[in-house]
Amino acid sequence: MPLRIVIVGGGTAGWMAANLLVRQWHPERAHVTLVESPDIGIIGVGEGSTPTLKRFFEILGVEDHEWMPRCNATYKVGIRFDGWSPASGIDSYRHPFTSQPDVFVQRAFVTNCRTRRLGLDVRTQPDDFFLNGVLAKNRQSPLAAESFPFEIDYGYHFDARLLGQYLAELAVSRGAEHRQARIVEVRQGETGDITNLVTESGEEIAGDLFIDCTGFASVLMQKTLGVHFQTYKDNLFNDAAVALPTPAADDGVPSETVSHALSNGWCWQIPLTNRFGNGYVYSSDFISADEAETELRSFVGDLDGKNEARHLKMRVGQIERHWEKNCLALGLSQGFIEPLEATALLLVQVTVELFMDAYAKADFTDAHRDEFNRKVHERFERVRDYIVAHYKLNTREDSDYWKANRENLNLSESLRRILDVWYRRGDLSQEIQRQKLESHFGTLSWHCLLSGYGAYPATADEQPGSGDLYVEQGVADFLSRCAMNFNDHRLELERVTTP
Ligand SMILES: Cc1cc2nc3c(=O)[nH]c(=O)nc-3n(C[C@H](O)[C@H](O)[C@H](O)COP(=O)(O)OP(=O)(O)OC[C@H]3O[C@@H](n4cnc5c(N)ncnc54)[C@H](O)[C@@H]3O)c2cc1C
Repeated sequence: MPLRIVIVGGGTAGWMAANLLVRQWHPERAHVTLVESPDIGIIGVGEGSTPTLKRFFEILGVEDHEWMPRCNATYKVGIRFDGWSPASGIDSYRHPFTSQPDVFVQRAFVTNCRTRRLGLDVRTQPDDFFLNGVLAKNRQSPLAAESFPFEIDYGYHFDARLLGQYLAELAVSRGAEHRQARIVEVRQGETGDITNLVTESGEEIAGDLFIDCTGFASVLMQKTLGVHFQTYKDNLFNDAAVALPTPAADDGVPSETVSHALSNGWCWQIPLTNRFGNGYVYSSDFISADEAETELRSFVGDLDGKNEARHLKMRVGQIERHWEKNCLALGLSQGFIEPLEATALLLVQVTVELFMDAYAKADFTDAHRDEFNRKVHERFERVRDYIVAHYKLNTREDSDYWKANRENLNLSESLRRILDVWYRRGDLSQEIQRQKLESHFGTLSWHCLLSGYGAYPATADEQPGSGDLYVEQGVADFLSRCAMNFNDHRLELERVTTP
């Protein structure tokens, strides 16, 4: 008898889970039903991804040209951070997704960062070293000529609603059952396991395993099973956002997200083929919703209010256990770390994969539940630390918000050690290995962040240096030769869109 898996919620998390489960377990091992309430709707933001979404489509066997045009999607090679560390003299830096060719320059970059920490003024900006940084600067796509011998990692930008619709059709065409109903009651058996869901019309839906994808409402995991939510409010102050679309750029489509620091938070700018998605993520302790909307409109040039703004509340933190009884939580119902590095869908995918692995390895029992919970919990914490570092290291003076973030002492032990090793001029790569952080944000990401901020320890006798320690020895040359293999992003999108 196949396992009856019932997913509640049809946002991106629900449909991602349905697709992964159907693809790998249907029909022999599982029957998947997804129930969603048409009158509640989805959150409708979350339009930037990491390269794990590329892996997601590879697992599903779906090619870019099959889904990207349907979702107005563009390629994403990384994130540019503008205005986070003005005092260091660096207006902007990039956190590119790293790829195979970066293996050749990784050592140069890390060595230069170390040299710079020792007091010699050499180049350490990530854009000078990583191929995706160069592609972003040139508005190039990450797809190379066929003769190019290396794999390039990339993510996507997409319309969240259209992606949901695409994934729904795909899952249903592959065997998932789709029901539209609001769940008003959750029934449990003697052991506390969930047995049935009751819809508004009184219909019952029975299952063996339930997946809570009900967004911030967390109807099954938090409301029914009472799993505790651990807030990150002490480390991450942002708790609200206002989103506002603007027309697509006339001068080509960028291949990166921009995260621009504003007075009391930051603004994302995500390029789609037909529009920009923009949003101001802020702390309501420091700025009101109206003020945030005005500042966002002014920043994106929409003060006459042509486009409608949407205000959202965010609950930042994670639940104590992501798998409790016979229920797994995914997406916003399991927790949320603010969207600065667009990590939410990455965490959805990682959670599903770890779960499927743990469940199958234990012969479809919960024998590995504790280990799974430990791993997912750890993932959330380490992603949080990487985001916290962006705030802790800021050098903005324009508001109490930025000062409060800088003075924030609520840092995890792991983050303290990373900063300690960096400022003491120690071997950060070794520390990251020691802490086993490579599967979260690894050596290169940390070096990009710290050098991108110009967060260097003060030295008594700084040497001028040539500014070019390794770059001079061929890195720049290598990168520009690589970049010749890549198309203009706009042209590549036209190629993907043309059948
Ligand atoms: C401001 C902001 C920006 C973000 N940016 C990014 C980003 O750039 N990248 C990224 O990866 N993530 C981002 N995220 C997170 C991302 O939006 C979510 O992780 C993603 O959309 C998945 O949401 P979800 O499916 O968990 O929840 P939702 O989209 O909220 O879906 C919830 C579903 O549950 C259903 N439901 C709820 N209650 C019931 C009920 N009682 N009965 C039946 N159905 C019910 C609803 O109908 C809906 O279908 C962002 C989030 C915010 C708030």
